Amino acid sequence: MSYIDLHCHSTASDGTLPPEAVVKLAKDCGLSAMSLTDHDTVAGLSAAASEAGRLGIDFVTGIEISAEYARPGTLHMLGYGIDPASPILQDLTGKLLEARGDRNPKIVEKLNEVGVAVTMDEWRAEAKGGVLGRPQLAAILVRKGYVSSNKQAFDKYLGEGGLAYFDKERLTSRRAIEMVRKSGGVAVLAHPVQLRKENFAQLETTLKQLVDEGLGGLEVIHSEHDDLTVRELDRLADKFNLLKTGGSDFHGGNKPNIGLGIANGRRIPRAWFDALVKALKR
Ligand code: AMP
Ligand code: ZN
Ligand code: FE
Ligand code: FE
Repeated sequence: MSYIDLHCHSTASDGTLPPEAVVKLAKDCGLSAMSLTDHDTVAGLSAAASEAGRLGIDFVTGIEISAEYARPGTLHMLGYGIDPASPILQDLTGKLLEARGDRNPKIVEKLNEVGVAVTMDEWRAEAKGGVLGRPQLAAILVRKGYVSSNKQAFDKYLGEGGLAYFDKERLTSRRAIEMVRKSGGVAVLAHPVQLRKENFAQLETTLKQLVDEGLGGLEVIHSEHDDLTVRELDRLADKFNLLKTGGSDFHGGNKPNIGLGIANGRRIPRAWFDALVKALKR
């Protein structure tokens, strides 16, 4: 059996390993194919693709975009097979970075107000030139001893309901899907469990809307999906004729409990990568 990982992050966003190192790790883990899905940026894709070519591991381009969604849920859209050079995508990622640029200083200011000493410069240093994301800030708070874990950093300060939580401007799901498709890619709903639906019937209703908006796939396997969720998502993907994908959502040291290629104890079958590539060729 051959396995893959279609959801992971590098230093181009809020992972701790450079793109090349993520690819090397995937190879060392015995994976036969992968994607890199950094938040709001395609900056890591060219380095990752070259390294994948060099090491002989199959690679498909990727991105993860946060879309508007009713709290307390979150809706993340994965885009696979996008052309990183597409002007539409360049324009989009520029705007997404601007929205982060508006939000991030508010978080730092609020943290300072509640007695947490941290600066934008420290956050930038932690981001190592990549997109500034909250997991890096969480790592700083842990290191400085304000909290004991990444989870506590989100629960107390950075997450929904936390003391320093601020939302950022987002695309609608319709626009996110449209942007991915116009850049040559297929849009896949990431970790559907994070929509925080009360039951699978409600999830199905939302999924149907997204399919009408042009959704092409569903992330069936993910680190936050238990066995029942995987089974139900697999069924829903079949029902709506969606591609199936899976990934760990690896972030390196920023989410130390998540290993590349393994999602809550499961591995992701190679056949899903082949079906994705086949769909992208059409
Ligand atoms: P950002 O893109 O800066 O808004 O940060 C998003 C990142 O924060 C994603 O990798 C999420 O998985 C992570 N994240 C969001 N909420 C939480 C939470 N409650 N606990 C841990 N990580 C979270
Ligand atoms: Zn992330
Ligand atoms: Fe996500
Ligand atoms: Fe992710």
